[in-house]
Amino acid sequence: MNTPYDTLYLFIDGKWIGTEGRATATVVNPATESLIGQVPLATSGDLDRALEVAGQSFELWRRTVPAERASILKRAADLILQRASHIAAQMTLEEGKPIAEAMDEVTRAAEYFEWFAESARRIDGRVVPANRPGVLQIVTRQAIGPVAAFTPWNFPAITPARKLSAALAAGCSVILKPGEESPATALALARALDDAGLPKGVLQVVFGVPDEVSSQLIASPIIRKVTFTGSVPIGRLLSKRAAEGVKPITLELGGHGPVLVFDDADVERAAVEGVANRFRGTGQVCISSTRFLIQRGVYPQFVDHFVSAARALRVGNGLHPHTQVGPLANLRQLAKMEELVADAVAKGAQVLAGGESLPGPGFFFAPTVLANVPMDARVMHEEPFGPIAILRPFDELEDALSEANRLPYGLSAYAFTRSARTAMEVGERLEAGMIGINQYRIVATELPFGGLKDSGHGSEGGTEGIEHYLTNKFISQA
Ligand code: NAD
Repeated sequence: MNTPYDTLYLFIDGKWIGTEGRATATVVNPATESLIGQVPLATSGDLDRALEVAGQSFELWRRTVPAERASILKRAADLILQRASHIAAQMTLEEGKPIAEAMDEVTRAAEYFEWFAESARRIDGRVVPANRPGVLQIVTRQAIGPVAAFTPWNFPAITPARKLSAALAAGCSVILKPGEESPATALALARALDDAGLPKGVLQVVFGVPDEVSSQLIASPIIRKVTFTGSVPIGRLLSKRAAEGVKPITLELGGHGPVLVFDDADVERAAVEGVANRFRGTGQVCISSTRFLIQRGVYPQFVDHFVSAARALRVGNGLHPHTQVGPLANLRQLAKMEELVADAVAKGAQVLAGGESLPGPGFFFAPTVLANVPMDARVMHEEPFGPIAILRPFDELEDALSEANRLPYGLSAYAFTRSARTAMEVGERLEAGMIGINQYRIVATELPFGGLKDSGHGSEGGTEGIEHYLTNKFISQA
């Protein structure tokens, strides 16, 4: 495959704006370390313009009838699907994930636009019987207002898609700031929406110095809703900024997903599919399974299957069709993996597979399996967000649950058992917003996506996903 990397722009007031004297950030292909693009960084004046336009376009878009909003979103979904191979190649070039994973992500991003196109037509209200004669009480739901949306580099199609599709369906205008490290994919979604006939200015895309952009956008009285996907510390920071302006915020932050494998489970499946899940996206996946807690009776068997599947993974440039695990997305990520493994090993952990960076060029780290990791190792507390799996035995269900729920994270959790009683118990007691029983594939357009505890609040996707972009109003008429 030899797809060139797209030119990068800001998309403000319906115009595609190039560098034109602005500061830029470089985009690096993480598989080759070559510079592939320069992304223009918005100035404060650019952001002011985007805010003004977001306010004006909101007045137009909120009054556009739902059927029209829906048909634009559906056309955008069709265009994304028609352009899927091009968009997927952009993603692999800038983020590194294998091309098949990138194609899957683009397809699922298009599904969100289809799904929320339907939701646009189902934003209904209520007539509430009054306790006084001659009074009509109507409850309506209206678009909340212009949205500031911040998305990270790891899922450059699906994360913007979840936010844009629901917000636009609700009638909100949006200023999106995607990750500067993988900008072309989000711009390709914006291009599809533009080509589908989204009125100019309803969606704008900016890049910049993240802290400066979020400070300016969130502080503006024009913005009425904030949504962020990324790390817990930045989620906390943006939450405080949103609170200053009394603005609701949806947060999808990190995780450290436990997997409970019981003696009665299909152990081979739990292990082999666990490897696929853990190392998908080179482990840079917030809902990834990270801590594998295995009941002692099947621990040796699980370890054998898991380690041999991990060692068999083919690591390489994501553009090669046989690659199963690509590079880490950036040098920070590579340095972090080296630190986490060195720390765990120094404290007594055993490396059963991988454990080190692979020769470059490219930010490659071998799929790593750690056992006997002491509780004071950093990786037992910090989200690894990379290709490291932790295996630990447990004796009783209570031990497994207390380890699973020990951390402040609460995004995803998984369990494998043939017992309906155990499945019900862990489903009830695992502290996570998304739980997979006897499977790892937990994300679906139709289901709410979101976490508990420090992993954030608010659900994206499903019938719930549009709610945050709507606000209630009642009209009581005598
Ligand atoms: P980071 O915290 O610096 O950045 C995470 C994201 O937030 C990036 O997209 C970045 O552009 C954005 N960001 C950073 N500061 C911001 C600010 N002040 N205002 C607005 N946006 C801001 O972390 P990183 O080095 O990119 O990644 C490190 C960790 O973040 C990972 O190890 C992982 O724990 C977490 N993370 C989580 C997700 C997720 O899907 N939940 C995605 C990416 C990163």
